[in-house]
Amino acid sequence: MLSAFEITEEIRGKRRSAVEVLGVCLDVVASRNDAVHAFLRIDEDYAKRQAGVVDDKVARGEVLGALAGVPVAVKDNMCTEWGTTTCASNILKDYRSPYSAHVIERLEAADAVIVGKTNLDEFAMGSSTENSCAGVTRNPWNPDRVAGGSSGGSVAAVAAGMVPLALGSDTGGSIRQPAAFCNVTGLKPGYGCVSRYGLVAFGSSLDQIGPIARDARDVALLLGVIAGHDARDSTSVNHAVPDYADTISAPPVNLKIGIPAEYFGDGLDAEVRGAVEDAIKMYERNEAEIIEIHLPHLKYAIACYYVICTAEVSSNLARFDGVHYGHRTASPDGIVDLYAATRAEGFGAEVKRRIMLGTFALSSGYHDAYYLKALKVRTLLKQDFERAFEQVDVIASPTSPTPAFAVGERSDDPLAMYLADVYTVSANLAGICAISIPCGFSSDGLPIGLQLQAPAFAEQRLLQTAHAYQNCTDWHRKEPTAVNSKQ
Ligand code: GLN
Repeated sequence: MLSAFEITEEIRGKRRSAVEVLGVCLDVVASRNDAVHAFLRIDEDYAKRQAGVVDDKVARGEVLGALAGVPVAVKDNMCTEWGTTTCASNILKDYRSPYSAHVIERLEAADAVIVGKTNLDEFAMGSSTENSCAGVTRNPWNPDRVAGGSSGGSVAAVAAGMVPLALGSDTGGSIRQPAAFCNVTGLKPGYGCVSRYGLVAFGSSLDQIGPIARDARDVALLLGVIAGHDARDSTSVNHAVPDYADTISAPPVNLKIGIPAEYFGDGLDAEVRGAVEDAIKMYERNEAEIIEIHLPHLKYAIACYYVICTAEVSSNLARFDGVHYGHRTASPDGIVDLYAATRAEGFGAEVKRRIMLGTFALSSGYHDAYYLKALKVRTLLKQDFERAFEQVDVIASPTSPTPAFAVGERSDDPLAMYLADVYTVSANLAGICAISIPCGFSSDGLPIGLQLQAPAFAEQRLLQTAHAYQNCTDWHRKEPTAVNSKQ
């Protein structure tokens, strides 16, 4: 599979048509999606029409968008005017949105070809894409392992070579952790960088949409298309959007990389540690200065995250009541029963758990003890990062403490599942940007990810730093054989 960058070059140079590119992509999906279950739905008619429009533009010599003819997969919690937007939940099984998300409009305006919608943990709550009402997404490197989550479908679609680009959402690691598990590059932009208009809300103070691709250059290309102000999301910041892709080769000068001791403590798998330390040495050989730093409040990040995100869940998911949206119970006994039965039937176990935890944390008498306390801890954590970024440009760490775990291994143990996010949730709490890039493999052939974090709106520096590593390594070029050989 060509990169997005290469596809746009081919199409501009009239060496391939968008329809041809899409045809290859649909063939790969047809041969691999049964094993991986990355896509919930393929919108073949829509995609063919879009590809035709691009080819017509080429024929007429019109100016082409930045993603002309590039097939893109979209996580199924972003609204599309066509087809359903299910969030992998029974409560939205047949839901059709009356409008498209901001990012979808941007993709269309850039002449991208949206291929279909991908699997996720229900409402993006999870770390393995096992909490989906539509079944598990499998890791293309080893189908007995999870793809990670919650953007497991988008990541697996890129990893399995079905599409060069995908969109995911990241509330506590949902782009970066699956990217690490599946050997792709995934970016969570800083809070306010990309509009969430039309993203089904999970944790509104944490959610960001971000790009997924095989390498940092393609990630940069997609970020350039989706970033920027949108008045329809009040948290969207009016910031200058640099040409991320065009400037990616500029080597970061006098780069100072911070290594937080707190990310290398107990629970870190020895092989993950080894690969990440090797990656840091690679930067050192390329003249980066490596500085040990401390983020003293990091140990509270998971507890803080799971209070704040569940509180926001209990509020955001109140709208799914059988009246406004989606599923409604068949024969309710009055209005209270309508709400209760609809929600009992429509939501899965993890979503219910979070609604209950969040409602408890916000209830009178507990609000100050849990929610308010968590907000204060969040401020302390933010200040830890602000202090760290006075000293260093970028912070390096593992993305996940372990490589991909087995399907079923943690599904009955919510706490073990929550701990998979130990290195990723802090970026969302602090609102900063973070990327995961491939940096090696475990002895049993599972990918390992390096996480780089930078202040919000320093995405350009982050991408340049990631690209500098990918210039001297080829981990990101390795492709899985487990499913790809089943063609
Ligand atoms: N795994 C985390 C959770 O379950 C993060 C999910 C996400 O980023 N959407 O909340």
